[in-house]
Amino acid sequence: MFQNLSERLESAFKNLKGEARISELNIANTVKDIRRALIDADVNYKIAKEFTDKVKEKALGEKVLNAISPGQLMVKIVQDELAELMGGKEADFSITGNPAVILIAGLQGSGKTTFTGKLANYLKTKKGKSPLVVAADIYRPAAIDQLTVLAEQIGVDIYAERENTDAVAIVQNAIKEAKAKNKNVVIIDTAGRLAVDEVMMTEVANIKAAVNPTEILFVVDSMTGQDAVNTAKAFNDRLDFSGVVLTKLDGDTRGGAALSIQYTVNKPIKFVSSGEKMETLDVFYPERMAQRILG
Ligand code: GDP
Repeated sequence: MFQNLSERLESAFKNLKGEARISELNIANTVKDIRRALIDADVNYKIAKEFTDKVKEKALGEKVLNAISPGQLMVKIVQDELAELMGGKEADFSITGNPAVILIAGLQGSGKTTFTGKLANYLKTKKGKSPLVVAADIYRPAAIDQLTVLAEQIGVDIYAERENTDAVAIVQNAIKEAKAKNKNVVIIDTAGRLAVDEVMMTEVANIKAAVNPTEILFVVDSMTGQDAVNTAKAFNDRLDFSGVVLTKLDGDTRGGAALSIQYTVNKPIKFVSSGEKMETLDVFYPERMAQRILG
């Protein structure tokens, strides 16, 4: 994960490691290398610059120049700032309510349906919940089939209405069904489009208005870098979502989405998905991710 970024950062620190004395110029060069590494990882220039300005200020303020091991202190500063950039602390994820209603939104192909299955599996096996997954994609019968297969695989009930073309009504009926069957979490998989599109946004916004979700999670493919960030902005402007799910972290992703989303939309990443298997879902911990990036 983020292998290229990790390697580039490691090499940026090389000119400080093992040095007993370093100069402001050493720091300036290291910071410049870090900035380039971030930009190459598809972090937007403004974010990369602000990040490295902060690192430089901290490095000079914390007296890296006189530190016994300046390299190590510098790594620590960058690690702390990376964690901060990704939200600092682990975000809350609310599953209170009877039932708790979790709305899943994002573009087609981002991994929504797969994540819906993974989240249901996680809530069932790790949190002792009894979830109902809802297929609210009224345009693609294949999406209902896909969620049906996943639900069977993880042993969770699914709600779908193949003949109904009113997504809001389907979701309202699903919540009634959940109450009748004592399901305490309802996870709604909505229809996506290949690009941000008014019909899709209106539909998800209408579902939101009708059911007042406990959480709205925006799912985004981490492989799409800057586009992921732009899409997040478009969805957030319309839905004011509560958190982000980054998918496909098992692929050859550069890191830009993970590092820029919180800064851009001021919403936390709550989960990361890294594979097609139902178990490959993790709660997102900014500090651990920063540690991993710095190896
Ligand atoms: P949706 O259109 O947003 O519902 O997206 P899907 O859940 O159908 O996912 C699109 C494709 O990406 C499918 O082939 C999934 O198996 C795959 N996929 C989803 N999440 C991940 C992931 O975390 N890692 C990998 N490698 N593939 C994923």
